[in-house]
Amino acid sequence: MGLVVQKYGGSSVADAEGIKRVAKRIVEAKKNGNQVVAVVSAMGDTTDELIDLAEQVSPMPAGRELDMLLTAGERISMALLAMAIKNLGHEAQSFTGSQAGVITDSVHNKARIIDVTPGRIRTALDEGNIAIVAGFQGVSQDTKDITTLGRGGSDTTAVALAAALDAEVCEIYTDVDGVFTADPRVVKKARKIDWISFEDMLELASSGSKVLLHRCVEYARRYNIPIHVRSSFSSLPGTWVSSEPIEQGDKQVEQAIISGVAHDTSEAKITVVGVPDKPGEAASIFRTIADAEINIDMVVQNVSAASTGLTDISFTLPKTDGRKAIDALEKNKDRIGFDSLRYDDQIGKISLVGAGMKTNPGVTADFFTALSEAGVNIELISTSEIRISVVTRADDVPEAVRAVHTAFGLDSETDEAVVYGGTGR
Ligand code: ASP
Ligand code: MG
Repeated sequence: MGLVVQKYGGSSVADAEGIKRVAKRIVEAKKNGNQVVAVVSAMGDTTDELIDLAEQVSPMPAGRELDMLLTAGERISMALLAMAIKNLGHEAQSFTGSQAGVITDSVHNKARIIDVTPGRIRTALDEGNIAIVAGFQGVSQDTKDITTLGRGGSDTTAVALAAALDAEVCEIYTDVDGVFTADPRVVKKARKIDWISFEDMLELASSGSKVLLHRCVEYARRYNIPIHVRSSFSSLPGTWVSSEPIEQGDKQVEQAIISGVAHDTSEAKITVVGVPDKPGEAASIFRTIADAEINIDMVVQNVSAASTGLTDISFTLPKTDGRKAIDALEKNKDRIGFDSLRYDDQIGKISLVGAGMKTNPGVTADFFTALSEAGVNIELISTSEIRISVVTRADDVPEAVRAVHTAFGLDSETDEAVVYGGTGR
C-alpha cells in the first residue's frame, strides 16, 4: 500500500462546495489503495482577511499573537474537510501542525521547520483513517509557542510531512493545471510543463514564479521527494518536479533547453549615489543592509567618473523592505559616505530559466534581441549558470515576458492555460 501526501491550496477549499469536491478526491485516492495525508490551506482569502483584521486593532501586531490568529484559518479548513470526508462514509481525523509533529524554530511569521515527528499521523493512518493536517503552522521547539511558516507555507508542510512519512509522492493541488512555461495570467499561450528538474524549478521559484515556493522545492530536493503539481478542478496529468525525467507512456520526457520565463514585480531598486570608489565601500553598504535582515537580489556598480572618483551602486530588494533599507542607510550615511539615495518601486524583473543554457551558445543574445525588438529597455542584468534576469520598467513586464516566451519557441498552439480559482494557490 502506498502513502501519498496531498496538499490543497486556499482556492481549492474556498467554500463548502470546494471542500466537498476535495473530500471526494481524497476518498478516491484512499479507495485506490493508498494511505492518504491531506494538508490544507486556509479557505480562500481567509489569511489576508485575518491579517487585515489584526492590523485594524494594532498597526504592528505582535508576532506571537499574529501566528495564533493566522493558524486559526487552517484549523477551520481541516475540521470542515474531516467532516466532509466522514459524511462520505470514510474515517478521517484532523490535526494541527503541532499535533502532526511539525517542530520549528521560534521565528514568528516565518519559522523554519527543524524536525517532523509524525507519530500521531502514523497511528491515525495505521488505524485506517485519512489524516488531515493544517498547513503553514508548527510549534517552536524552544518556546513551545505556535508558529507559522510564512505566506504560502502549506506547500512546505506537505513536503516536510511527505519526507518524514517516506511518502511516494507529494501532490500539490492548486487552481492551475501544473507548472507553466510562464504565468498563464500574463501569457495566454503558456505551455504546461510535463516534467521539470528541481534545479530549474528552484530558479523559477526564486525568479517570481508563484506556483511553488522556493523553500518547498528546496526541501523536496534535499529529501528527494517528487512533487506532482495538479489542479483540484480538473483531472489532467499535471507537472512532475523531480530529480530525474519521468516516463510518459512509452516515451521519456526530455530535459528542455529552456524551462520557462518568470517575472516578478514585487521588488524595488535602491541606488546609492556618489559612493567613493575605494575598497570597503560595497562591504559597508551591504553590511548595513544585512544587519537590517534584508535579502537583496541583484547588484550593479557603475564605473566611476574619473573626475570625481565617485560611483553609484544599485541593488534590488523586496518592496516590503524598502522603507527599512532606506532608514538603515540614512542612519549610516556619514560612516558609509555617499551623497544621496534613490528609491524606485516601478521596476519589474524578467528571468529566463533552463539548464540547457549551459551548453547552448546564443541564448543570452537571443534573449536581449527579443527584448530590444519589443522595445524594452534594460536597467540591470544578472545571470547564474541556468538563468538570465533583467530589470525593466514595471509597465514593460507583460509585453517583455510575451516577447521572450515567443522568441524561445515556448508558445503552445492552443490556449491551454486555464486558471480555475483565481488566486493561484
Ligand atoms: N494560508 C496561508 C497563506 O495564505 C498558507 C498557505 O496558503 O499556504 O499564506
Ligand atoms: Mg492561502
